Formats: sequence, C-alpha cells, structure tokens
Amino acid sequence: MENQYRKQTVTMPSYLAKFECLAENCPQTCCQGWNIPVDKAHGEFYQQLPDEFLQRKVSQVVKKVRRKQGNQIKTTFHLDVMSQPQARCAFLNTQNRCELQEKYGEFALCDTCYFFPRQFLRVDQQFSMSASLSCPAVRSAAILPIAPSTFIEQETFIDPDTEWILSDDYADPDFKFILNNRQPFIENLIQLLQNRQFDFIESLQQVCAQLNRLGPESAENLLSDLETRGCELQTGTNEVMTLDIPPDRRFAETQEWIKQLDSALNWGLESASAASHAIQKDLLQLTAGISSPHVRMAENYLSIKQTSIDYFILDNRHLFENLFAHCLFSDTFTNYLPSSSGIIDINSIAHFEICRLVLTFSLLKILLVNSAQNSGNLDDSSFLEVVGELDRKYLHYPDFMRFSITRLAAAPLSNAQLISWIAS
Ligand code: SF4
Repeated sequence: MENQYRKQTVTMPSYLAKFECLAENCPQTCCQGWNIPVDKAHGEFYQQLPDEFLQRKVSQVVKKVRRKQGNQIKTTFHLDVMSQPQARCAFLNTQNRCELQEKYGEFALCDTCYFFPRQFLRVDQQFSMSASLSCPAVRSAAILPIAPSTFIEQETFIDPDTEWILSDDYADPDFKFILNNRQPFIENLIQLLQNRQFDFIESLQQVCAQLNRLGPESAENLLSDLETRGCELQTGTNEVMTLDIPPDRRFAETQEWIKQLDSALNWGLESASAASHAIQKDLLQLTAGISSPHVRMAENYLSIKQTSIDYFILDNRHLFENLFAHCLFSDTFTNYLPSSSGIIDINSIAHFEICRLVLTFSLLKILLVNSAQNSGNLDDSSFLEVVGELDRKYLHYPDFMRFSITRLAAAPLSNAQLISWIAS
C-alpha cells in the first residue's frame, strides 16, 4: 500500500527523534490484549489482499461492523485481537513480526499500528508528538536519562486522526491565550520542574503553585513572568507548602488524602448494587480490624513510604522529574470539552490541572509502596515496571482519568490543600 500520510513539523521530546521499536526483541508486543481500531482505507485494503495465506488471517482477525446512524449506514473495521488465542494478533508470526508489514511494507499497517507508540496533538496550528508509556522502549528512553528532558522541532509523518483543539471553541480569554501559547507554557513549567535547586517534592509543588496563579493573575502575565524568571523562581512567593509537617498532622492528612483518593478513584462502584457496596465496606473493615479502613491504610502506607519511598525520591529525582515532564508535555491543558464538561473558566482549569498532578503523583506513590512491600527493594527497573503499571491501569484510559480528576476537583479542597498533599 502507498504512503498516504503527510509530513508536518512537530515539537517532540528529543529522545523521540532517535526512537526505534524493539520489534522481535520487545518483551511485550504492543498489539497483544487490545482490540485495535482500523481506519477505513486500510480496512478496505485488507479485504482485498491477493495473498491467500494473509487472506485467511484477515477473515480470522479483521472485523467489519456496519451500523445504522440516522439515515446512513456507517462501516467501521477493527482487529479483533481479544478473541484470538492468548489475545495475540493473528498477523504476528512466531518471531513476533507482523506478516502484513513483512509482505507489503510498513504502510500496510493500519494508522493505529503504524503510529504506535507515537501520540499527536494539534492545538490551533501547533503540533506536538509524545509517546505512550505502555511501550517499554519509550519508558526507558523517557524516564531513565539523568540529564533534564529537552525538546526539538522536527518534520515527521502525522496521524490523520490527530486530536485537534481549537482555541476559538473556548470563551475564556485566559484559556484562549494559554492554548495559543501552549508549548512555551509547558516548556516553562517543565523547566521549573527540572530546577534541581529544590528536591522533587518542592519542584512539583512549585509547578502547582504557578498553575494556582492562573485566575487571580492573567495568563499573559504568568507566561511573561515564567519566561523572565526561568528556573530562578523562588520558593515562598506563590503559596508553596513546606515539608515541615509534624508527624501527627501528617498522619491525619494522609488519612484524609487516602479517603479523598478512594472516593475519586472508585466511582465505577457507583453502578454496583447496594449489596456489593455493603460487602466491600464490611470486607475493608474486617481486614482493617477497626472502624475506619482509611486509618489502617494510612498507617501501612506511611510506614513503607517513610522507610523507603521518601529516600528513593530523594536519591532518584531524575526518574520522577522525567515522568512528570512527560505528563506535563502530553496532557496539560487538554481534555476540556468546551460545551459539556462544565470546566469553562480559567480558575476551574487551574484547579483541574493541579488535581491531575496530585492524583498522578498519588497513584505513583501508592504503586511504589506496593512494589516496595512486595519486592523489598526499589531501583531503576522496578520504577520502570511501576510506571508501566501506572500507565496500564490508569493513564492509558483518558476517560477514567478525566472522571477521577473531575471527582477530586469537585471535593471541597483548596488548591493549597491539594498542593500540601504532594508531600503526603
Ligand atoms: S511496545 Fe514499543 S518496542 Fe514493543 S513492539 Fe510495540 S512499539 Fe515496538
């Protein structure tokens, strides 16, 4: 099949310019365990493959679905990987290479497979390219370097289905300004995150404190201030919390933090029956042996965090810095539906973005505590495994994250309180 993609200059993390798929040496195959949407052009191409062997594979794994939409019939295609043995795509051969690509070249891959793990975003006329942390090659390249992340502009083929955000869809003038200048905003926030004059917790609090200025101050002023001061921003001027919290208050805060997280993340249970809720509650209370499971959770969490995670963060700030630089670059100031989400003004957007960072860091720490508890040890490779788990369970599902963040944002919590929880 011919190349149908056009080229575009995009901003991307520097490591992506040298990215190479591990192919048959990959410890996982990226298509395993997912049903993969196939664009119409490739779906139709697969239906007419002359090769008999591949045609049998097509009938095994390519599904064509016809649906009535209003007065029209809509045809979609997907690779029904989940119904295949071990949820492995039927096009993969025993060496884990794709037969379609082997026979017809890389442009025979559907758009989803061709572009994975690359992820594109277009905001007005600005294009950026990030990559999915579910790919082990991306995880290592993005997370392990000790030097701070840098970004470059480069021409590359782009996904025709790139998500496109238009600043004209939003009424708030500050948010419009941010969208028009998303790249400099993000790069300045990342520069702040990478200021190694502070420890990582303080740096992440600094980033949140700058987001907290949106609303009271204009976005234009904030950007100009960030650009002028660069990484020389000082602590104490912008509602940055200190880490000096007495142990008893830390425990009470941690307990409250776990309670709020539990409520933000377990929204799926709301559709369960009342009996299921009661059983879950009883089980938690039985396990904890006390009336509030959050007390026991906080005790367990704090004992492991204080003996291993706090030291690991101090000794390995580059791992955390790189992960959050990746998150800021990929997700910040996206996800807002102009008409239906209810998030329409700059104060709510700043609050939502602070919740996003706090929730992501909280999930990471909880997974790290579990990993430390299970293996008794944390190092680069266990950190990469935890990041893979974080992606697989949470980050990979933007709707799950959006609903969970929206729930956390709806709790009666000030930005200052949320920022203080970064140290929990
Ligand atoms: S997960 Fe990444 S390295 Fe592995 S096959 Fe997919 S793109 Fe290649």
